[in-house]
Amino acid sequence: MPYDEPREECGVFGIYAPGEDVARLTFFGLYALQHRGQESAGIAAADGSDIRIHTRMGLVNTAFSEEDLARLPGHIAIGHTRYSTTGGSRPVNAGPFLVRAEGGPVAVAHNGNLVNSDILRRELTEQGVQLTSTTDSEALTWMIALSHGRDLATRVRQVMPRFVGAYSLAIMTPDALVGVRDPLGVRPLCLGRLGDGWVIASETCALATIGATFEREIEPGEIVVIDASGAHSHPAPQPSERHAMCLFEFIYFARPDSKLMGERLHLVRQRMGAELWREHPADADVVIPLPDSAVPAAIGYAQASGIPYAEGLIKNRYIGRTFIQPDQRLREQGVKLKFNALPEALEGKRVVLIDDTIVRGTTSRPIVELLRQSGAREVHMRVHAPPIMWPCYLGVDMARRDELIAARMSVDEIGRTIGADSIGYLSLEGLLRAIALPRSRFCTACLTGEYPVPIQMELERLALTPRVAAAASPASTLTGEQAAH
Ligand code: SF4
Repeated sequence: MPYDEPREECGVFGIYAPGEDVARLTFFGLYALQHRGQESAGIAAADGSDIRIHTRMGLVNTAFSEEDLARLPGHIAIGHTRYSTTGGSRPVNAGPFLVRAEGGPVAVAHNGNLVNSDILRRELTEQGVQLTSTTDSEALTWMIALSHGRDLATRVRQVMPRFVGAYSLAIMTPDALVGVRDPLGVRPLCLGRLGDGWVIASETCALATIGATFEREIEPGEIVVIDASGAHSHPAPQPSERHAMCLFEFIYFARPDSKLMGERLHLVRQRMGAELWREHPADADVVIPLPDSAVPAAIGYAQASGIPYAEGLIKNRYIGRTFIQPDQRLREQGVKLKFNALPEALEGKRVVLIDDTIVRGTTSRPIVELLRQSGAREVHMRVHAPPIMWPCYLGVDMARRDELIAARMSVDEIGRTIGADSIGYLSLEGLLRAIALPRSRFCTACLTGEYPVPIQMELERLALTPRVAAAASPASTLTGEQAAH
């Protein structure tokens, strides 16, 4: 793990475009979604009679050659970028999944996590299905492939109530593409147009990259079937009374140039920075972001406060994900591989450092130290999200609860531990003000412990004791005396 961030599990992409080189377009769609998963990439393409697939470990750029794309002819394609939270990082777990059942081949790209995966896998095994991976995505693909019904929408509607958790899906048969979002709408999925064709993608940035235009978001619980007769929308078999879009899509995961719920995320994150200033002002000379993800919020904090914005840390953009450094000691050392300081921006200055999240807290202290070594007189940490106190079971690697620094320490203790002069987290209320949508639309589980789905099975699987949901501890600012240097 390169530094202390939650990690999104997957990006999905799908295209129905007769006459286009759909595998190549999917490659570039995945290229735009690389930030949503860096462990493996895959594309499946359909030509009306069969489905072909290519999956490989690694980044999109290294997973495909021209020859690989040439072996994926057709007019429909789906693609997947993956980072694993369940199932582990292994070639057999790379998506999309392609299964061949009596009803014909079905391929699925899945973003999210099913909390009842173990039950589904057990049921399939009892039916004689030989599962080749350890993922929930393969179970979900088999469930769709084994479903019955007069058409594809009916088949998907039939199995959806069996899926408990988060799922944004791109499903493909030899002659149709389907986009599905779970009734809670945990993960994003949007619909676009490319000429006469149709595109579905985790984020709008993938539409822009291939020259497609944004049509609309696929609604929570909606099934959009695209075939030779056009695109047809079908409602969820069991609509949810509430929605639970992941707040961290707004805070961190989705690219700042993507739009979510009608808003450009760069601007939403600027508003988070402005709210952070209102809640936790600092007497300082310069505002710097932890690059790249905290840049918009740092701009917002600087604009609201009048404190100059500067780049004080430079990120090595080419280091990639350091999966060869799994243990704690090497993770901490890894910070220096990832960031270099700009002493000219820091010398003698009282610095506000903006970060989007602190998960384990393992990299915050080395970064604060790096700023001090580079001349910063004071370092005031400001985080544009509330403290993360609970793990995520809906498709994000947040670490175990005992690893989460905010589950073990008060905000003041975190400030002292990382060596900051002061610390302030944006409150949930401030975050929702910045997003300008009601709390009832969002999942807040990792902040509040209030999960939108039953997680008993996940807890049992992890051998954890369920605890009553608790409110996140309020953000606070340390006094100079409290801070450790
Ligand atoms: S628990 Fe947190 S990271 Fe997971 S879906 Fe909910 S808001 Fe997102």
